[in-house]
Amino acid sequence: ASMSASVSEPPACLSEPINVPSKLLMGPGPSNAHPRVLAAGALPLLGHLHTEFTKIMDDTKAGIQYVFQTQNEWTFAVSGTGHAAMEAAVVNLLEADDVALVCQNGVWGVRLADMVERNGSIAKKITKPWGEVFSLEEIEEGLKEHKPKIVFVTYGESSGGTAQPLEGLGDLCHKYDALLLVDSVAIVGGAPMFMDAWNIDVLYAGAQKVLSAPPAASPISFNQRARDAIASRKTRVRSFYFDAAELANYWGCDEGPRRYHHTGMISSVYALREGLAHFAETSVRNPCVTTIKVPEGVDWKKVIEYAMKNHKLEIAGGLGELAGKVWRIGIMGYNCTPENVNRTLAVLQEALKEHWKKN
Ligand code: PMP
Repeated sequence: ASMSASVSEPPACLSEPINVPSKLLMGPGPSNAHPRVLAAGALPLLGHLHTEFTKIMDDTKAGIQYVFQTQNEWTFAVSGTGHAAMEAAVVNLLEADDVALVCQNGVWGVRLADMVERNGSIAKKITKPWGEVFSLEEIEEGLKEHKPKIVFVTYGESSGGTAQPLEGLGDLCHKYDALLLVDSVAIVGGAPMFMDAWNIDVLYAGAQKVLSAPPAASPISFNQRARDAIASRKTRVRSFYFDAAELANYWGCDEGPRRYHHTGMISSVYALREGLAHFAETSVRNPCVTTIKVPEGVDWKKVIEYAMKNHKLEIAGGLGELAGKVWRIGIMGYNCTPENVNRTLAVLQEALKEHWKKN
């Protein structure tokens, strides 16, 4: 090689400041990150085996167990976005020539079948028009016909906009000796999820949607049935990077000391931890009755009288210990619409303008 090779010009674009406008992200993800999550991204790096970092991994694992409602020991985050967790599920559960029954009612079933085939496994597809979900009977037909090793469904379809009912599906799959794999990337945290009670064998999610973190490390959990299936493989998992047993070790999910498998996504794990922490914090609020603290300098009663007199809208005062300290707003059943919420907020705002510091 010539010693006279010269270094090319540095790219001029990199001498300009980075341009990141603030936007309201109301699409199917990424959604805006919580400020607490963004702050976590600015924290100093730690080593991927430092005890302070492995503690943060443990916190993250506990948070994932909570949002999935599972006690599964093999619960961790795969380094990569939702697709990485998806691919990890496929390569660990399936060997060459194993059959997957893939329920397709949108993009995600199509994508998963592609991953199955790239793994040398066989995807048997059952389809529904996008926007519809599968009945237990339809899935049972597929189980009888194809005798798959796994069944895949998408809980929250972000292309067809559906939420696949999951109750009873795990038991049905087990009756036919199949494992149930569920994609919850676009829904987990926003709709009920009971991984253990619903007998889901493998569940994965993403960080950048309901969890309000950047797209990065992706939650995944394997139950004992799935672990047994992995342990009884005849061939090694084709991917080193996504080998669940290796990842479980790095995430402290087995007896052994944590080994270096790959460098954990340090800042992304901080962010995921904070996204999960923010969730755990708000989880005890009743979504059907919202209690709002009455601010200093406001007569709570005048506000509800104003709303009733001027808008024929009922807002309730506090009850018992919280009498005079909170307002209560019910968001229930037929009344549970964005229009009613917006109208109530507008009236509350108007009433507060009228009565704040005027009493
Ligand atoms: N599954 C579903 C249901 C999704 O909505 C998405 C993201 N749109 C993914 C999987 C893939 O996730 P990612 O883009 O983070 O890789």
